[in-house]
Amino acid sequence: MPEPLFRRLALIGVGLIGSSLARVARERGDIAAEVVATARSAETRQRVIELDIVDRVEPTAALAVEGADCIIMCAPVGAYAAIAAEIAPHLAPGSIISDVGSTKQSVIRDVGPLVPEGVHFVPAHPLAGTEHSGPDAGFATLFRDRWCLLTPPPGTDEAAVEKIAELWRRCGSAVEVMDPNHHDRVLAIVSHLPHLIAFTICGTADDLAGESRQQVLKFAATGFRDFTRIAASDPEMWRDVFLNNREALLEMLARFTEDAQAMARAVRWGDAAYIEDKVERGRAIRRSLIELRQA
Ligand code: NAP
Repeated sequence: MPEPLFRRLALIGVGLIGSSLARVARERGDIAAEVVATARSAETRQRVIELDIVDRVEPTAALAVEGADCIIMCAPVGAYAAIAAEIAPHLAPGSIISDVGSTKQSVIRDVGPLVPEGVHFVPAHPLAGTEHSGPDAGFATLFRDRWCLLTPPPGTDEAAVEKIAELWRRCGSAVEVMDPNHHDRVLAIVSHLPHLIAFTICGTADDLAGESRQQVLKFAATGFRDFTRIAASDPEMWRDVFLNNREALLEMLARFTEDAQAMARAVRWGDAAYIEDKVERGRAIRRSLIELRQA
């Protein structure tokens, strides 16, 4: 077995993503010699002990990062600034601080200025997830055959970037380095807008009165059901994603709204060719996803 990449890996937050990382590290043995974790609530910390997926659980983030050479923040992005402020005085020189947050410019804005001299900062985002949350929801194969995007600020130590890249490769992911602004725009269209639409459509259906509302649930085994799966995601995580990728999300939403209006116009005026063309484009996108093995 190759040498573990890190001596001590500290996970701040052990929900779906953090607990999946813990599980891969435990299963492989070559990611870190020791994994320490913490979570906000005593309940989650207790559950992580019961699940026996890390070597040690600490009550605070400051204690968890003590002596760690790799720290990965796995909490909702809105919590990062406070976490970074708490752990900064406890980070060892030469250690690497990374994260898994779904927005990247906000992470660089909130965490970057708090990273002490001599500590390397390598923001990351594994494009893997489910609608489930909490430490029970994780599994070791979550990141397999998925992308992980790294958005290191200019001038970041290359060896540190390579170590985080190797960590994700050992989790089974393909790694790409991306500009954080580009990351946020791409993710706004492929992930954040679809979630916004799913939450909205479930709200719209829920607002229907009486009989119709009952029937939505009864006959949901159609397109609506796929939206409800996405809409089952964690409210805190998504609140933070929307508020921390505000500009890109609003821009994509504006474009989407224009396109939806164009579709409404085609429906109103019976423009069959327009409708067919849009459906055909949707099918083509689905086919290319299947070819790229991302479906
Ligand atoms: P999750 O299952 O809800 O878990 C969040 C974890 O963070 C919990 O252990 C929670 O502790 C902990 N936490 C919250 N606030 C904290 C704080 N102030 N200090 C320390 N720990 C704190 O969430 P998740 O799905 O794993 O998401 C975690 C991160 O991954 C988010 O930034 C999200 O954007 C990103 N991400 C998510 C997905 C996805 O599909 N879910 C995919 C890629 C990236 P308690 O349980 O005690 O509250």
